[in-house]
Amino acid sequence: MLAPVRPAPLAGEHKEWLERLQTNLATVDWSPKLQPLADKLGNNVPLSLEDGMTLYEHPDLHEVGALAHQVRQARFGNRAFFNSNVHINQTNICVLACRFCAFRRGAKANDAYAMSIDEYMDDLALYAHAIDEVHSVGGLHPEWGVEHYEELFSRVSNTYPSISIKALTAVEVKHLGQRSSISTREVLARLKAAGLTSLPGGGAEILDDDVRAVICNGKESSAEYLQIHREAHEVGLPSNCTMLFGTIESLEQRLQHMISLRELNASTKGFQCFVPYPFLPDDTRLPQAQLATGTEILRTIAVSRLMMNTIPHIKAYRMNIGDHLAELALQFGADDIDGTVQKESIMHLAGSSAPLDHDRAKLARLIQDAGCEAIQRNTTYSHFEPYTPPKVKPRRVLPMATQ
Ligand code: SF4
Repeated sequence: MLAPVRPAPLAGEHKEWLERLQTNLATVDWSPKLQPLADKLGNNVPLSLEDGMTLYEHPDLHEVGALAHQVRQARFGNRAFFNSNVHINQTNICVLACRFCAFRRGAKANDAYAMSIDEYMDDLALYAHAIDEVHSVGGLHPEWGVEHYEELFSRVSNTYPSISIKALTAVEVKHLGQRSSISTREVLARLKAAGLTSLPGGGAEILDDDVRAVICNGKESSAEYLQIHREAHEVGLPSNCTMLFGTIESLEQRLQHMISLRELNASTKGFQCFVPYPFLPDDTRLPQAQLATGTEILRTIAVSRLMMNTIPHIKAYRMNIGDHLAELALQFGADDIDGTVQKESIMHLAGSSAPLDHDRAKLARLIQDAGCEAIQRNTTYSHFEPYTPPKVKPRRVLPMATQ
């Protein structure tokens, strides 16, 4: 077995982040409910599920956010990370029908599509000059096996060696294994050899099989999601992990989800980033969903930062929560914001109105407006470059942006 992949040294973190956190936490008079949690955080002791419930039930959202911001500031200072990427969703044809999914189509639907490799390359060519990552996830195509993706990733990596390929969720990896009658580990190893750089985290939803039986029946089990990411880390593919919240799960199930992921990463160290995002209800089939409000989204991002001590980055996924909440999330524990994303289908079909036309300058201004310094990163968080957007005509600048 190969050694687990290690993230880039410190993944952009301050080397002395724990000492910085201890110092910073001591400067604040935390309320009696949060003081024990602050003490644990200062010693890098993982918060328990009960601690997580305390954070969810604490009446002062701002104090929860301030605690998460302290951790984020200790690890990364005022920096907020982004990358230049494009999302190409290669097919919407899927053999499953997850109840939250507004994207998938049956093979015979009028608007079903499956991009040939040439069509994919033509699409990528439109963006290749301005990106360093292509992010591709899609449906479980009934005819594509691992060979299809080996050819695709070889074409991409040979044509654009400087573009990282972040692609395929765990259930897509499982599906390819079944189609090609090989193990998931072999799928991952072969795709890495063909040029795959890393895995996105999609498909985790809530890692609780009772919840999954309702919202995504037939998808990989919780244990399979964790196992496939473990295997990815072991063959040298870093990955992200996600949480789709605001369907039918309880707060305890959310917290257990976070604990399962952080425990895996305590041993493999291959998760780079945790991406919590809320269910978007348009055109989907979960009328019983307990939709998350704006404050709940911010609180969940803050709770994620505080619970996930083994995963360095918490992403504000602006494709899903929109630019305004994503900007605020940078003050509630998030340190990363995805991305320039000039093309995307899955969240937009589910009701997202997040703009798609962000170039680096627009995204960097959004980061600056949150009071942060914009740092462009690569896919694997091993290369960082401060980015200052070109000056625009004088704008009104309110206090947060001048901190
Ligand atoms: S979430 Fe993925 S696996 Fe589920 S129906 Fe949609 S495309 Fe298919």
